Amino acid sequence: MPPLKLPLPPLKTQTHIPHMPHYPPLQPLLRSITQSLKKTPTKNMSSVNLKPNTTTTKPQLKGIVFDMDGTLTVPVIDFQAMYKSVLGEDEYVRIKKSSPSGIDILHLIENWAPDKQLKAYEIIADYEQQGMDRLQIMPGAAELCGFLNSRNIRRGLITRNVKLAVDLFHERFGMSFSPALSREFRPFKPDPGPLLHICSTWGVEPNEVMMIGDSLKDDVACGKRAGAFACLLDETGRYDSPEYANVEHKPDYKVSSLAQVQSLLEADFDLTP
Ligand SMILES: [Mg+2]
Repeated sequence: MPPLKLPLPPLKTQTHIPHMPHYPPLQPLLRSITQSLKKTPTKNMSSVNLKPNTTTTKPQLKGIVFDMDGTLTVPVIDFQAMYKSVLGEDEYVRIKKSSPSGIDILHLIENWAPDKQLKAYEIIADYEQQGMDRLQIMPGAAELCGFLNSRNIRRGLITRNVKLAVDLFHERFGMSFSPALSREFRPFKPDPGPLLHICSTWGVEPNEVMMIGDSLKDDVACGKRAGAFACLLDETGRYDSPEYANVEHKPDYKVSSLAQVQSLLEADFDLTP
């Protein structure tokens, strides 16, 4: 007896699966993964320096946010001298001991009495004026920005300096950073607020952005707290010191010059717009 041929049911696309479990929406899930990754201790900084990515899919990078003083410009502000003159020698020594990753002068003076606070701002403004007078563009900054232009990667800026200094920098540098947030934008670094503000202005996720700066306590902390990649510019190797070994927020990358950033981006990230 020949096998019985049953007509095949027509193929159809399944649009509804009964009893399908309800999965949580993807974005909050990704956010919670980012949160838990942030709690994972990072590898030794020197071991991640320029290490090529061995995974097949590279994370997309859509924007870079730079710190200004000491990152896009050559460091000329003597911050330790500024802190000593604002706080006085004894208070400076006391606070320095309790804050191993650095002093947050703007937060410290925020709740001072108005006259004392005014005096502190005058001292800070003097140091910042000296910085403006001697402003120099960091070697490698123009080349890096040219590379980012060629790949259509966005450029933003976050500084704890004043808007006047950012305007002067833009005038001298001849390339613009947008948004460029100065300390008139509250809250300032190391709060992740300014970086999250830039991400939402750009319409990108924080994990598609890298924060680059020369301060572990401000730039790296701001970047990691926002859920972005963080790259520490450490020209002199000062952060190799054991006093920084146990800081809460560690960078994903460490470079000793801006010239190293391009190869890092090309090796570890998908730069297609
Ligand atoms: Mg800086």
